[in-house]
Amino acid sequence: MISKFCVFCWRAVSGYSKQPKRSNFFCAKHKANAETRITHQKHKRRLIKALEKKNIHVADDQKKEDYYSCLSLQVLKLKGLPDDELIRKACDQKGFCNLIEIIFGISKKSYKQTYNKIKVLRVLKLSNKKHFTKAIMMILDKEANHDLVSNIPFELDNKKAWLTGLFEMLARHEVYMTVIEEKVKSGPEKGEGENKELRDKLAIRINEMKQEKLKHINKRLASEFSLSEARISVLHRQLIENHKV
Ligand SMILES: [Zn+2]
Repeated sequence: MISKFCVFCWRAVSGYSKQPKRSNFFCAKHKANAETRITHQKHKRRLIKALEKKNIHVADDQKKEDYYSCLSLQVLKLKGLPDDELIRKACDQKGFCNLIEIIFGISKKSYKQTYNKIKVLRVLKLSNKKHFTKAIMMILDKEANHDLVSNIPFELDNKKAWLTGLFEMLARHEVYMTVIEEKVKSGPEKGEGENKELRDKLAIRINEMKQEKLKHINKRLASEFSLSEARISVLHRQLIENHKV
């Protein structure tokens, strides 16, 4: 089966269809159209170089679809999924909070750079698989807006499939951060820090509250985040302008 993750990153493929075609392998950032061709080529070179360092070679004399399918699978040799036993143990957990803690625990150990980004979610009370998954997608992708994360590249209904998909996304993000992206960054990016964390948390809570159709959102947020309603209202407006909520 063709992965619904982009070959070069953790995002969902854009315009996925069951027919074998090029767009089944890349997100909007890596599609290799006029705008993204340079990034596409640069990231492809970096990925192949990292694989070759591990003595993994992907034959490029095969059909494009087979080549990219193969390359996408090999990415997980650079950073794999937790073993089946660990996923089974996580599946057996009672209660969503315990399950989330296990996910954070595994991420902290195996996907360090990714964990540094998603750890802000640890304090939020995200109550189900869909909210949690979308919150992670928003945190991983600075430019993701609410519409983009509606395209979740794995199943949510089945717990094991969800966990496997989620860890695959975290693993692919870790490869992106450590192999493909230009600079390996640790910790929050310059100029972002606390403000970005606050905005990310706010965006997640606002989207949750909207889904739950709650009223007086700014008032609720002001008390939840111990900020004035005026400050919350400014931040809320900025998030709307940036299509984050
Ligand atoms: Zn991509």
